[in-house]
Amino acid sequence: MEQKKDIRSLTKEDLREFFLSEGMEAYRGNQVYEWLWRKSVHSFDDMTNLSKELRQKLSDNFAINHIEVDLMQRSVDGTIKNAVRLHDGLVVESVLIPTAKRSTACVSSQVGCSLDCKFCATARLKRMRNLNPDEIYDQVVALDKESRIYYGRPLSNIVFMGMGEPLMNYKNVVSAIGKITSDEGLGISPKRITVSTSGVPKMIRNLADEGLKVKLAVSLHSAIDSIRTKIMPFNAKLNLSDLRESLQYWYSKTRSRITYEYVVWKGINDKESDIQALVDYCKFAPAKVNLIQYNPIDDGSFVQAGSEVVQNYVRTLENNRIIVTVRQSRGQDIDAACGQLANKSNLC
Ligand code: SAH
Repeated sequence: MEQKKDIRSLTKEDLREFFLSEGMEAYRGNQVYEWLWRKSVHSFDDMTNLSKELRQKLSDNFAINHIEVDLMQRSVDGTIKNAVRLHDGLVVESVLIPTAKRSTACVSSQVGCSLDCKFCATARLKRMRNLNPDEIYDQVVALDKESRIYYGRPLSNIVFMGMGEPLMNYKNVVSAIGKITSDEGLGISPKRITVSTSGVPKMIRNLADEGLKVKLAVSLHSAIDSIRTKIMPFNAKLNLSDLRESLQYWYSKTRSRITYEYVVWKGINDKESDIQALVDYCKFAPAKVNLIQYNPIDDGSFVQAGSEVVQNYVRTLENNRIIVTVRQSRGQDIDAACGQLANKSNLC
């Protein structure tokens, strides 16, 4: 059987033209667009201001591909992880991280990942495909619903820190952000959205040119090429000096400070020279450092450094007037923490 076109791949203009070509009023296209995005319905039958015939016409021509939350798990610390089934049966994960004041949605951008960070569980799943804009959008909608139900408030922040490398699915991520921030979508301010990347210089430049006003986080983990290449092998091609230039470009265009995500591991990046290299790297463009806790992915070659080493990082960065935060891990008991997303719940 021939697959019907996913109606959410159409723009509002496409929808208006569809109705015109069927001899109907173009404004019907606006109505359908509103149902699909702002109201997020998953069935043509829910479009109650359209006649039965009209709904039938739509379902004869199109499908509404949508996600299904197959399994929701809740951590003892309140973190929620969704196993999200896509229309073709593949599964990704997304996470809701509640704190006293915030509800942060952590969304996936790819099924698996294009990159090969040695310490990340997602990297072990080869990249199957990129997510479509509507699949990213739907994850946000599902987490927003859960935040309202369980925490009595809407989402406050969105981070692209789930499965995948968002800048390797550039077009769809930018399109999803457009829908998430638009008043015709979820109306969430772009300032509350963080795109986290392993560091793809060309795409960082493109994102700077896009003028989206989102925040940028870079998973740095080492400011020394030989070490970074060992733990993030793509760094051999996309090295720290290219990255640095793209980050300087980002700052010159956006005036938005960069966040470096950084895990300190025993025997890998726990020396004074590692700290000094990070301090120097932070001087190229205004930056802040997030020291994140390592979440073991059960192979033992990476071990979180002791708290004295982490404190040494904090002290040295602060002495150099660099803002630094130490982030506790969330949702470890349900494999929902950074780098642990690997579809372990056996749904695939
Ligand atoms: N590809 C993007 C977003 C996904 S990873 C990126 O690399 O930024 C989200 C964050 O989790 C990144 O900073 C990543 O380096 C970090 N991370 C990956 N595996 C981890 C692990 N096992 N423990 C702690 N953080 C990890």
